Amino acid sequence: MVGRAPLRVFLDASGQTWHDIPTYGRVNWSVEQINEHAREVWETHRPGQFVVGMLLAYGFLPYLAWPMRRCKVCQTRWMCREARWASRWFDSLERGWSHLVDVEL
Ligand SMILES: [Zn+2]
Repeated sequence: MVGRAPLRVFLDASGQTWHDIPTYGRVNWSVEQINEHAREVWETHRPGQFVVGMLLAYGFLPYLAWPMRRCKVCQTRWMCREARWASRWFDSLERGWSHLVDVEL
C-alpha cells in the first residue's frame, strides 16, 4: 500500500495524548499498550481463503471474476479495518504521527 497518511494523535490541554483505535474509540493508552494491542490485532486479523468475487457487467456480458480474500475475524474484505489500523500504527511508529491539538472528550 502506498501513500498512507500517518495516524493522528490528539492532545488535550493537560498534554495527555489520545489515539483512535477501531472498536475502542479514543483511548489514552500508553504507546506500549497500544503496541501490544496492535500486535494482537495484526496476528488475529488475517486474510482467509480466496473466494471468487463476481461482477455481472451490463446484465448480459460474461461474468468478471477475481480472487478476493476476507478477514477471518471480521469477515469483511481484506484488508479489514482493524488490520489496516494495525499496519498504519506500525507505520506511524517509524514515521511519526500527525499531532492534533483538538480534543472533545
Ligand atoms: Zn479483521
